[in-house]
Amino acid sequence: MNLGDSVGVLRGVGPKKIQALNKLGVNTIEDLLTFYPFRYNDIAVKNLEEINSQEKVTLKGIVASEPVLVRFGRKKSRLNFKLLINHDVIGVTFFNQPWISKQVTTGQELAVYGKYDALRQSLSGIKIISRKTNDFVGVYRSSKDIKESIIKQLVKQAYDEYNSYIKDVVPESIRIKYRLENRKQMIHDIHFPSTKKEADLARRSAIFDEFFSFEAGLQLLKRDNHKNMGLRIKYNNEKLKEFIKGLPFELTKAQKRVVNEICADMLSPNHMNRLLQGDVGSGKTIIAAIAMYATVTAGFQAVLMAPTEILAQQHAEKLANLFEQYGISVALMTSSSLSRVKVKRELLKHLKNGDIDIVIGTHAVIQDNIEFHNLGLAITDEQHRFGVNQRRILRKKGVNPEILAMTATPIPRTLAITTYGEMDVSIIDELPKGRQPVKTSWVKKKQVKNVFEFVKRQLELGTQAYIISPLVEESELLDLQNAEEVFEKAKEYFGSEKVALLHGKMDANEKEQAMQAFKNKEVSILVSTTVIEVGVDVPNATVMIILDADRFGLAQLHQLRGRVGRGSKESYCILVADPKSEYGKERMKIMTETNDGFLISQKDLELRGPGEVLGKKQSGLPEFKVGDPVVNLNILQVAQEEAHNVVFSPNFETKEENFELIKYLNRQFAQEEIID
Ligand code: ADP
Ligand code: MG
Repeated sequence: MNLGDSVGVLRGVGPKKIQALNKLGVNTIEDLLTFYPFRYNDIAVKNLEEINSQEKVTLKGIVASEPVLVRFGRKKSRLNFKLLINHDVIGVTFFNQPWISKQVTTGQELAVYGKYDALRQSLSGIKIISRKTNDFVGVYRSSKDIKESIIKQLVKQAYDEYNSYIKDVVPESIRIKYRLENRKQMIHDIHFPSTKKEADLARRSAIFDEFFSFEAGLQLLKRDNHKNMGLRIKYNNEKLKEFIKGLPFELTKAQKRVVNEICADMLSPNHMNRLLQGDVGSGKTIIAAIAMYATVTAGFQAVLMAPTEILAQQHAEKLANLFEQYGISVALMTSSSLSRVKVKRELLKHLKNGDIDIVIGTHAVIQDNIEFHNLGLAITDEQHRFGVNQRRILRKKGVNPEILAMTATPIPRTLAITTYGEMDVSIIDELPKGRQPVKTSWVKKKQVKNVFEFVKRQLELGTQAYIISPLVEESELLDLQNAEEVFEKAKEYFGSEKVALLHGKMDANEKEQAMQAFKNKEVSILVSTTVIEVGVDVPNATVMIILDADRFGLAQLHQLRGRVGRGSKESYCILVADPKSEYGKERMKIMTETNDGFLISQKDLELRGPGEVLGKKQSGLPEFKVGDPVVNLNILQVAQEEAHNVVFSPNFETKEENFELIKYLNRQFAQEEIID
């Protein structure tokens, strides 16, 4: 017998119930014991006035009148009696459940669950609650396949039979430090508390317990990653220094620090698994270039994966220019560059025999039939756009290539600790010299003429502008219609030779042409959908107009705004919107108040919740049972620190107080792969 036993061992649980429980995420006894109530019903209501009308409640009192049963028709009946609660008497009525009259006797204490009518001071009864229950009872998630009352019974049964097997996962010294209950007590009190206070205390311990065990798993991954033999990229330091000197600008302090962190990782035999975080425009691309250059001087290949074709093209062009004089070959691999059979065959051949040093691509890079000669470094740009899976596949392309994941969305602490908890983090916390914050304003739609007027005056100064057309949820076709409409209007207003259009439905060539025309200043305005949301770098562009800006999320708005303010010229972002909701107004306000991506992403997380911020499926954010990683961030942080200290301590495996934690982690790892 152990907590890993299937719920099938419980009395009354056959294949059907097993299936129903599995659907709720409950497979083992341990899952069931940690299937905590999501709220409690407080029967000990002291004051009837606190109950909302039509609210469903359980009321407890003394039966104050003989129950009267009236039958009418064959199946219909009505049962009435009075219930004395403190000093109030309320009427209770049950319809069509005549058998209940047998359960009610005058003078007896009784708890009734039903819908309360405050005006009439009466309760429309739904059921009688067992006399044995406490005043304070847990309410559980259930489904149409398995009733809540059954779940309650099973939890009780599991606890009664298995409680002696519940062992502490959080080491004792930490439990004492934070005054946490032991696991057995905690699980008991969270399911069967006698007071709210008891439940709250247990819940606090449970949140810590949950975060701690999760973080310990991540820290273990991280520790083993550090121990793991990775590649040793013995780059040529002289050449690397020359290369950095030859760049058109001096690196910022933060960039230099990050380069050193990456270089140290590459030289060491440990495996690199590093997240590079830096706000839009902080200069991450050049870091990628430096790391790739170093890799090539050591005789390895490198790959950079970007989330959009436009971005991959831009990177390929820039890097090819940069590397040309050093005799390094750069190839672009996107689904369109690979669409011609002959070209594809050549590319694959040169990649496999090592003629190509550096590959820039989209997810096309991770297709099955693409093989490298000796991949030493894999970089993902705009990491938050990729799923965990894609990171995994890319890694499998080399023996065990060094990994660098770059993200422009500053990751709030919550996500850094959970989703990326096993990675080392480098941060660029400084923008290149001379950058000015983008001046952001919000105007109503009826002022759009003035906005166009403003753009016109700016263009006269020799700068360029983006106009982002409204987003239509989940309809690329309508997005396209919108973009075309805006395109027509812009041509009318600014002159057709001055405007280009860019959208996702165009083929790679057309996109490339539009982008080039804008980069080469052949046109001064680019009307676009969100395809330019990330990465696009045209420093001469200083005006960003976002139409119907309230349809975009905060992170998206910040990214879009990041397309301007990339040089030393004064830049502007104008949000055109008539938001209908408070939430929409709030977003517009935040954008005009700050340029700080970190603050914005934290707000985003608070306003929308983590699943929404990263896209539910892609977030990789674990679902916690009691802890909310946003609300309980403080506990999360402490749990992470403690988990780190425990796992990284030299005698982690031999210290007795850690044995249960180690066993727990082994069970978890056996069940699932936590993170790639
Ligand atoms: P992001 O971090 O958003 O990917 P980029 O790498 O595209 O930013 O860099 C934004 C712009 O800043 C680019 O035009 C790049 O050439 C320039 N840049 C990067 N580092 C520096 C620096 N140290 N000094 C001046 N300009 C820089
Ligand atoms: Mg970038």
